[in-house]
Amino acid sequence: MPFYRLKTGIVHVKGTRLPRPCAAHVLIDGHEQLCAAWSTYLCDGPAQGRDTCDMPLCEAHAREIGPNRHLCPACHLSHRYADPQRGLFSSLIETP
Ligand SMILES: [Zn+2]
Ligand SMILES: [Zn+2]
Repeated sequence: MPFYRLKTGIVHVKGTRLPRPCAAHVLIDGHEQLCAAWSTYLCDGPAQGRDTCDMPLCEAHAREIGPNRHLCPACHLSHRYADPQRGLFSSLIETP
């Protein structure tokens, strides 16, 4: 039963098959905390040891890089700085 940060504050939601709370970090009152908003996306970025990063992301933290492809802030950074000639992200097309 995950906790979510909703407009009303941290809410403990009961139930199964709920999306994981957003794992991006945000600064709240000067402290780095989990965003924990209701996630609607999973990061499609590469990860060591598994296929994709799979970080749960809310609307605010998902960076859309193509149709149904989203990156977390960390993967988006390395995506932007990755050399496009190296092939790691060459199958992904950046949308404006
Ligand atoms: Zn978030
Ligand atoms: Zn990621």
